[in-house]
Amino acid sequence: MQNSWHIFSDFDGTLAQNDVGAQLFIKYGDEAKCMDAVNEWMAGKISSCEMYHRECKTAEVTPIQLQELAVEQDIDNSFYDFYKLCESNGIDITILSDGFKIYIQDILKKYHLTHLTIRANDLEFLNGKQIQPLFPYSEYSCDQCANCKGYHIRNFKKQNPHAKTIMIGDGYSDRCGALEAHLIFAKADLKHYCVKNNLKYYPFENFADVTKICKSLRILA
Ligand SMILES: [Mg+2]
Ligand SMILES: [Zn+2]
Repeated sequence: MQNSWHIFSDFDGTLAQNDVGAQLFIKYGDEAKCMDAVNEWMAGKISSCEMYHRECKTAEVTPIQLQELAVEQDIDNSFYDFYKLCESNGIDITILSDGFKIYIQDILKKYHLTHLTIRANDLEFLNGKQIQPLFPYSEYSCDQCANCKGYHIRNFKKQNPHAKTIMIGDGYSDRCGALEAHLIFAKADLKHYCVKNNLKYYPFENFADVTKICKSLRILA
C-alpha cells in the first residue's frame, strides 16, 4: 500500500552539509558584493531572483570548476539511510531548492542518488565562465523566492488531496514551504522563523534525528 506521506527537503545546509550556493559565490564571486545582496534578501528588500542576478554578475567560474566544487561536497551522513528507509516505506522525497540544479545533480551523482526529483533554479554558462541564473518557476513564486517552495507543496497538495506533506529545512528560503507543509523539521534560520511565528516544528540536526522522530510518529516503520 502506498504510504500517504511525501517528504520535501531543502538541499543546501540540509541534505548537503554545506551551503554550496554560498560557497560558489564566496569562491568565484565578489564576496563583499554577494554578502550585500544576501543581506538585502534576508531583510526582505529584494527577491532571490535579484539576489542571484547580482551575485552571478560578480562571478567568474568555468563548468569544470563548478563541477570540482560539487564533487568536494558531502551530504548529511545519515541521509542515505533515511532515503533507503523512506524507499522501503513507499515514501517519496522531493528536493526543493532555491539554489541551482547543476551542482545538486553533481553532488547526488557522487552518492548514487540520481533518481530523486529536484525542483530548483538553473544556471547557464555564457562565454565559458560567465554565469546567468534562470528561474523556471519564478512565475509561480511569491515576491521573495525565485523558486518558491510553497508553490510546489501547494501544487502537490492540490494533486494529492489526501497526502500529508513534510518540509525539512534550515533557511529563510524554506519559509514558504514550511507554511504549506503539514509537518515541519527545522534547524538554524528556519527554526528561528518557526519560533518567531509560532509555527509548530520538530528541531533536528541531521537525518538521523529526522528518522528517529518519523519513527516515533509512525510515519516510518
Ligand atoms: Mg538551506
Ligand atoms: Zn516563497
